Amino acid sequence: MMIELGISPAATAAIGGLFGLLLGSFLNVVILRLPIQLKSDWRRDSRDFLELEPEIEEPVTIAKPASRCPGCKTPIKAHHNIPLLSYLFLRGRCKTCAEPISFQYPLVELLAGLLAAYFVYQYGLSSTALYGLIFSYSLLVLTGIDLHEKLLPDQITLPLIWLGLFANLNGTFVSLNEAVIGAIAGYLSLWTVFWAFKLITGKEGMGYGDFKLLAALGAWMGWQMLPMIILLSTATGAIVGIAGIIFVGRNKEMPMAFGPFLAAAGWMAFVWGEEILSGYLGLFNF
Ligand SMILES: [Zn+2]
Repeated sequence: MMIELGISPAATAAIGGLFGLLLGSFLNVVILRLPIQLKSDWRRDSRDFLELEPEIEEPVTIAKPASRCPGCKTPIKAHHNIPLLSYLFLRGRCKTCAEPISFQYPLVELLAGLLAAYFVYQYGLSSTALYGLIFSYSLLVLTGIDLHEKLLPDQITLPLIWLGLFANLNGTFVSLNEAVIGAIAGYLSLWTVFWAFKLITGKEGMGYGDFKLLAALGAWMGWQMLPMIILLSTATGAIVGIAGIIFVGRNKEMPMAFGPFLAAAGWMAFVWGEEILSGYLGLFNF
């Protein structure tokens, strides 16, 4: 399936990029609010299970209440909600109380715009581009949430597994065989590492969300990419972790979110995996 606008690929990509900027604003909201909504649900369920009185609190959902400044609670005006431009125009501060606005907002908006432009340029206005974009945006949101909360919500990782298998029903990225084995092998490989590490050291090195995320990556791009993803993510994770201990004085007992490394390695494998694999195998081919 492919839609032709009758304009150049670069112009189509530019339009896609603008839509991506707008979607980036929505991704920011999901990153900040989904964990709040989940925690409030868990608290309600726990109180219900323990037969305690429900708390009276204002429910926070993705849609409500409207965006407010975290400093002074002033609702954010529509013309201050324009992706990227508002941040530049306000010079990164709230108009009312001058509280600095988190750099996460323009960064996520910019990445969302670039990703949309990239996939539309590569694949045109096609279902492949749409799949690639949903995959990338899910990884972006998971990265944001894991950095803030050390949490990879099932509400994103599980649908990402099913959608990857669905996309590969007709072999969009890999054959269905490779996708199904990828999902199973992805989950089991980190599950095995987790239990081996726990039995040897008594510590938990990662969470179940990490297994589900690697299962999703396997479902999208097949089992062949899993060794590269594990290698890339653990190597960069170790480097960043050790650098953090040496240069920033990070407490080495403090757990570090592994999801962002998996997501970044997964995205690179999704986009450049074939080239990396053939280049790497090419080294042994002389
Ligand atoms: Zn303010």
